[in-house]
Amino acid sequence: RDVVLADLEKIGVLGAGSGGKVYKVRHRWTGKEYALKIIQEKHELAVRRQIMREMDILRSSKSQHLVECYGVFDRGGEISFVLEYMDGGTLADVLKYHKKIGERYLAEVTKQVLLGLLYLHKHKIVHRDIKPSNLLLNRKQEVKIADFGVSTVLANTLAQCNSFVGTCAYMSPERFDPDGNGGEYGYAADIWSLGLTLLECAIGRFPCLKPGEKPDWPTLMYAICWGEPPSPPADASPEFQNFIINCLQKNSNSRPSAEMLLNHPFVRRYEGQPGVISELLQGLVL
Ligand code: ATP
Ligand code: MG
Repeated sequence: RDVVLADLEKIGVLGAGSGGKVYKVRHRWTGKEYALKIIQEKHELAVRRQIMREMDILRSSKSQHLVECYGVFDRGGEISFVLEYMDGGTLADVLKYHKKIGERYLAEVTKQVLLGLLYLHKHKIVHRDIKPSNLLLNRKQEVKIADFGVSTVLANTLAQCNSFVGTCAYMSPERFDPDGNGGEYGYAADIWSLGLTLLECAIGRFPCLKPGEKPDWPTLMYAICWGEPPSPPADASPEFQNFIINCLQKNSNSRPSAEMLLNHPFVRRYEGQPGVISELLQGLVL
């Protein structure tokens, strides 16, 4: 089960994020494919130790709806993760390809992501970074959450990188509040991010900003903290509208839990449609 870095052979690049690069790799002896995420920035020893400690706890997390981590390595300050390879790419890729995603697909995505969130929240983990590029799909019809519980240390360093705005765009209003219990926030922050992600998929653009509005940090923070929460389109089903309105309550205490949302009529209405995820991935070239 344990994978050793030296046994992995790079066979391609899957993508790059704010913190590093993700390669497609193959295990020399088993032929099994993995995604290898390498964090470019070199951290100090103390920070690295902290990251490794936290990641160790997270490695033991197991759910069908979380991208599995097979190993964490520190090679002279360069940290890398061996991850389950998801051959359907991210929800961001799927959205880019289809422009908009229909409700019956979104319902299945929602159900699977909620099952992943339910697992994390039950284990007292707040994801903090639910967004389209962190939801991955595969041809086995699975949708999984990636980058969960990225150590707080790592999250803070990544937040100082250039894509700060990209990460903050899905942050709930209470997370911008400096008086909010010393920056503490709970599980409801993930529910907000999920609602925003689904709304973006339904309308085909980022919901908090008007079309053409500059996506810079002040504009974004102003819109999220002082604006009305974004609302679902009028032509959506009443079930979807209600789901989104519930997730995007500005008061975090008013948002339902992952467990409650699993029983929401929007998720229930489209249950029992085998093959919707394959349909969604059809024609997609990564
Ligand atoms: P950000 O850095 O802003 O969070 P991101 O989530 O896209 O953006 P990464 O998590 O570094 O950044 O991932 C980069 C890309 O690599 C993803 O967009 C995805 O295309 C690909 N990728 C990541 N993990 C996997 C995986 N387990 N299987 C397949 N592809 C992956
Ligand atoms: Mg990611």
